[in-house]
Amino acid sequence: MSFSLIPDYSFHSICDVSPDFLKLRGIKLLLLDLDNTLAPYGTLEPSREIADWAKSVKDAGIELFMVSNNHGETRVKAFADRFGIGFIMGANKPFASGVRKALEQLGKTEKETALAGDQIFTDVIAANSAGVTSIIVEPIKIINPLLNMRYWLEAPFRAMCPNKNKIKQRRKKA
Ligand SMILES: [Mg+2]
Repeated sequence: MSFSLIPDYSFHSICDVSPDFLKLRGIKLLLLDLDNTLAPYGTLEPSREIADWAKSVKDAGIELFMVSNNHGETRVKAFADRFGIGFIMGANKPFASGVRKALEQLGKTEKETALAGDQIFTDVIAANSAGVTSIIVEPIKIINPLLNMRYWLEAPFRAMCPNKNKIKQRRKKA
């Protein structure tokens, strides 16, 4: 449990975080960021690819739970319902409180939990501060200059990830 901006693992997309990868590391609970991790800002429905990925993770016995800073109940709940998973809104990432609340609520330890998100300055800091495994993914869609600037400010920390080669890994198109 320490303050760090360096993710433990990095992937191109959340869909690259496979059930096998999680199981090998003893992860039983995967906490998920919503905006730009599961869907672009403003979207109310997950893509087919992400819905299929979520199903494969759940089928492998790994619990999914959304930890979002978003305050819009309609949107967060729509996604949670679509995936059939629980959620915390207004999670206050980069603070660890939302992550800790999820662990307490679900009865899981830090060691068996990971958090995946698209932002170093919120998701990775929150995960590292809470002592859970941190996974960074590339944002789905950068829609404005502010998001673009933040992405580039985060770039050095993404690059410092021990398995940074994964960032460039592109999935084969089905
Ligand atoms: Mg996000």
